[in-house]
Amino acid sequence: MKNAGRIDGRTQLIGLLATPIGHSLSPAMHNLAFEKLGLNNVYMAFEVGNEQLEEVVRGMRALNVRGYNVSMPNKTAIVQYLDELDDSAKFTGAVNTVVNTDGKLKGYSTDGSGYVRNLREHGIDLKGKKMTLVGSGGAATPIAIEAAQAGLAEISIFARNDQFFARAEENVRIINEDMKHTQVKANIYPLEDQEQLREEIRTSHIFANGTGVGMKPLEGKSVLEDVSMLRSDLIVTDVVYSPAKSKLMEQAESVGATAINGLGMMLWQGALAFELWTGQEMPVSYIKEQLF
Ligand code: NAD
Repeated sequence: MKNAGRIDGRTQLIGLLATPIGHSLSPAMHNLAFEKLGLNNVYMAFEVGNEQLEEVVRGMRALNVRGYNVSMPNKTAIVQYLDELDDSAKFTGAVNTVVNTDGKLKGYSTDGSGYVRNLREHGIDLKGKKMTLVGSGGAATPIAIEAAQAGLAEISIFARNDQFFARAEENVRIINEDMKHTQVKANIYPLEDQEQLREEIRTSHIFANGTGVGMKPLEGKSVLEDVSMLRSDLIVTDVVYSPAKSKLMEQAESVGATAINGLGMMLWQGALAFELWTGQEMPVSYIKEQLF
């Protein structure tokens, strides 16, 4: 009998547990990659919040699902239900990828390594460099941790005086104390101190926005009040990818700096998760060409 489609009795499920979920680009990205490589997997998004999470994890384990992505609001809540954490998840306290090996669930965070890998694809090595980073939320925290792992010499973290400030303090403590082996010097400053921000950027190789400033509802805004803080030999990165050219990216381009938006980080966090589940490299340039 002819197979009517890609799905048959041996198709393995990979999931995504988050809410809201409808806007996610991950199903399109992973399914296209499975198809391109001829892998018998399917990627499905499931509307799951904290209340259903424990039950869903148990169900996924019972079904022997190979793995899944985890997004908001489940990234930290999932930790308690897993058997083991990779360092990337341990230091960030969050998981975006779960791998099921013979019923044993291991959590990873590929957001930060996706960020670092994307920089590498742009020919940028973080070893010995100084980074100034704004933010300490779900995107900024893995960037800080993974950039430190990748060999930065120094990182200055700026955080707004809101509920995320304590996490910024925690990130600095983790880098300086728990990750002593990296020998990275981490500093923390209030984002309100724009003169200190100017000074830290002046001595940095990379300036990174890890906040949602620049995307809806803050589209057209930037964490930088004054574009004269930027210069042409600076690398400026944004976690925002919609719009593709945020206000910060415009500011960076206006002074001739290297501007790298959040699309590559998003693609590479997916590619690294894909590799963890399948053992194969995601065809990233094909995906980029087809989807973006
Ligand atoms: P979050 O709510 O966990 O963290 C938000 C961070 O932004 C906090 O540090 C907060 O202090 C800061 N912040 C919020 N409003 C601010 C303002 N007006 N001025 C200064 N700082 C402000 O959110 P998140 O999950 O970290 O997401 C942040 C952004 O990153 C979103 O735009 C999201 O789409 C994007 N993101 C991109 C990727 C990627 O792969 N490119 C991955 C995850 C998130």
